[in-house]
Amino acid sequence: MMRIILLGPPGAGKGTQAQFISKEYDIPQISTGDMLRAAIKEGSELGKQAKDVMNAGGLVSDDLIINLVQERIAKPDCVNGCIFDGFPRTYIQAYILEGLMLKLNTSLNCLISLNVPEEESVARLLNRGKTSGRSDDNEKVIRNRLKEYNEKTLPVLQFYRDKGIYVEVNGIDTIENVNLSIT
Ligand code: AMP
Repeated sequence: MMRIILLGPPGAGKGTQAQFISKEYDIPQISTGDMLRAAIKEGSELGKQAKDVMNAGGLVSDDLIINLVQERIAKPDCVNGCIFDGFPRTYIQAYILEGLMLKLNTSLNCLISLNVPEEESVARLLNRGKTSGRSDDNEKVIRNRLKEYNEKTLPVLQFYRDKGIYVEVNGIDTIENVNLSIT
């Protein structure tokens, strides 16, 4: 049973590393960002509620995110674990996730924090923005995403540090080396 959280500032390479880990341990990747983008594409009610906040680089409400994750982890492919990519992003989400884990009679193995200096994040995202088609990969929005990360997600890292399951990985290495230091 592997239950892993992968966090890091926008542009740290979470998605890429989460995919590696997902394959390595044969566990599904649960990316709240991907799920929200899919909801927007579908034009679902959730998508409509999340769209403006995402485009502004803010965080979607904890209620919406928790509902999304709760439904997802109840699916059969999650029985042997999962990797949370970009979740939990607030202290409240982390706190509620603890309760969900207890209810499922399971617990988290570790939180991996991919560390990348702020200006490197910005440079990477501006570069990605040229091809990603993501409306939130532009400088003004990137700065807001970083601000949200610093204000709301850094306390989440402390929460897991206190629980003793926090691992830090240098995210400015090559994709392969980052992957090696994670697995
Ligand atoms: P990401 O793909 O992880 O960079 O997420 C893109 C955007 O989706 C973020 O800037 C937030 O607006 C939203 N989002 C993704 N995950 C969460 C989360 N756990 N809590 C709140 N908002 C989220």
